[in-house]
Amino acid sequence: SSRNSSREAQGIFNPDMQVNMEKTMFSEMNLRNGLNQNEFHLYYQPQVNGLLGELVGFEALIRWQHPERGLIFPGDFIELAESTGLIIPLGEWVIKEAFTQLKRWELIFESHLTISINLSPRHFLHPDLPSYLIKCAQETGVDTEKLVLEITENVALEDFQAVKKRMNELNCLGFEISIDDFGTGYSAFIYLQHFSVQQIKIDQQFISGINEDPKSEAIVRTIIELGNRLGLQLIAEGVETKLQSERLKELGCLDMQGYYFGRPIPVDEINKQLSSVLNNRKVFLPIQDPSI
Ligand code: C2E
Ligand code: MG
Ligand code: MG
Ligand code: MG
Repeated sequence: SSRNSSREAQGIFNPDMQVNMEKTMFSEMNLRNGLNQNEFHLYYQPQVNGLLGELVGFEALIRWQHPERGLIFPGDFIELAESTGLIIPLGEWVIKEAFTQLKRWELIFESHLTISINLSPRHFLHPDLPSYLIKCAQETGVDTEKLVLEITENVALEDFQAVKKRMNELNCLGFEISIDDFGTGYSAFIYLQHFSVQQIKIDQQFISGINEDPKSEAIVRTIIELGNRLGLQLIAEGVETKLQSERLKELGCLDMQGYYFGRPIPVDEINKQLSSVLNNRKVFLPIQDPSI
């Protein structure tokens, strides 16, 4: 959505209107060509333990480097991919790429980092998903525990029993499941009551007001308590300031992701930072960005 991409898109597509126009201009064939021409890339955003400053993993976020139109954000093509079914080959590419990258980082840095990927509801329930995941894990020799699968609450709109069965299946294979944008979707509590999930990602909408808006703070506080009571991992997304990270620490949410710790960047740039991060006792220093 434009909410997610507008900040990063600054300087690439300036007037918001242009972004919206571009969105309608992609066709199924454009996407298919992009996939065949290897125009998609994963950018990686650090996930950090705010208490220790330790890097714990990355979220992989897809980007389309279009030869004429430049860098395209997922808000401008994921919907089309879902409606055309291309989300399956696209999602499979993401899975394969993430496993390959995990393997590369294991070889270079002997790291214990995880990668979180985003799965669309349609792909989550696809019959081939478990076997494809296992195939990639086996081909790379990477533990399934290292790939975290992010889904949104809207998966609950699908067949309830099928979702439940699929979650158990993926858990049995060793994958952890994370509920992305927690609190913004169709039914947050049904998930926690009936489904086997391991992580909650507190949506950035609640994080942005955490220091000024008592309602946002109350919601975050309650999600954290809920997560703790259910024994789930908690991570806050969209952490943009030191003040937000400090408030989250006080409230007991230690894992964080957001521009304050680093924007999503290509793997080459991550590697440059990683060598210094991992040599420096894994302490990940927030990037001082005056534009934030
Ligand atoms: P998401 O999974 O909730 O990812 C978080 C989005 O917020 C990303 O936008 C990220 O760049 C942005 N973000 C991160 N930190 C901050 C921050 O501190 N402030 C603000 N304002 N934004 C921040 P992005 O990369 O444009 O992705 C948008 C959405 O597209 C994702 O939301 C996810 O739902 C979807 N998506 C991304 N990659 C994939 C993919 O490989 N497959 C599928 N199916 N969906 C994807
Ligand atoms: Mg996500
Ligand atoms: Mg999210
Ligand atoms: Mg979000």
